[in-house]
Amino acid sequence: MAILLVKCPHTDRPISTGIEIHDAETLINLPDVCSRINCRECGLEHVWRTREAWLEDRVEVAPPTRQHKGAIGQLRGRANCANA
Ligand SMILES: [Zn+2]
Repeated sequence: MAILLVKCPHTDRPISTGIEIHDAETLINLPDVCSRINCRECGLEHVWRTREAWLEDRVEVAPPTRQHKGAIGQLRGRANCANA
């Protein structure tokens, strides 16, 4: 399992999306959609795209668990960034 990270545009620091993904292939197969995240670094809400995210096996940020399947399901259900 790896955690999906995105970069905070204000601090350039990696932030955890809280989404766990089994492997890189799963990430590649996800559609390029937008999602929102409440940034723990700067406290603002960011919109991030699947293609901007990357996987990290172990990060110091504590990922929430128990929601990876649902979270991925949410990603699959979104069409694009038009309404972001
Ligand atoms: Zn931020």
